[in-house]
Amino acid sequence: DVGSQKERVVTEEEWLQKWEMGNIGFHKEEGHPLLQKYLDVLLNGRSGLRIFFPLCGKAVEMKWLADMGHSVVGVEISEQAVKEFFSEHSLPYCEEPVPEISGAKMFQSTSGNISLYCCSIYDLSSSIVGKFDGVWDRGALVAVNPRDRQRYASLMINLVEKNSSYLLVTVSYDPNKHKGPPFYVPESEIQSLFG
Ligand code: SAH
Repeated sequence: DVGSQKERVVTEEEWLQKWEMGNIGFHKEEGHPLLQKYLDVLLNGRSGLRIFFPLCGKAVEMKWLADMGHSVVGVEISEQAVKEFFSEHSLPYCEEPVPEISGAKMFQSTSGNISLYCCSIYDLSSSIVGKFDGVWDRGALVAVNPRDRQRYASLMINLVEKNSSYLLVTVSYDPNKHKGPPFYVPESEIQSLFG
């Protein structure tokens, strides 16, 4: 019974506040073991991929993949998170407005292989960011408000190339015991969202 979580909404302001308060238990300094485990599935023998990190926070896996020669694009509403990513990895970056999205900024490593959009993911489209060969979705679908899941999934489907790999991490628990996020997204719902 996931009914208990259906109506829950975490606002953008609340996410910004979590970052300000350092209330970011979701951030993993060592990176995620499941990306290491399934890296071959993501890459499928290919090099120089464009990899998307929805709701990226300051995920260290962005640095891993960039160091392997891939091009990384992330989106995150918290500017603090984006700046902490670059400073914690001692990466010089530049910052520019995104003409298509009012108020949005794009932060790009000087080397050019990591571009982080600071805006809501719902403002993005493939005409702005292009299409991706791979997606690392950890703390993203499960952080999306349940009422927005369909919109999120449709957008993600639009942002990927035909021959792409999408790694999705979900969490399994009794949704009556925790309000989330991370929200519980049952397998059956993933099937109906992504087909
Ligand atoms: N994927 C990251 C962060 C997970 S927490 C990791 O693995 O560590 C979810 C993140 O999504 C938070 O940093 C929050 O600020 C951001 N976020 C929430 N709603 C968003 C939205 N609509 N658009 C972009 N980022 C959002």
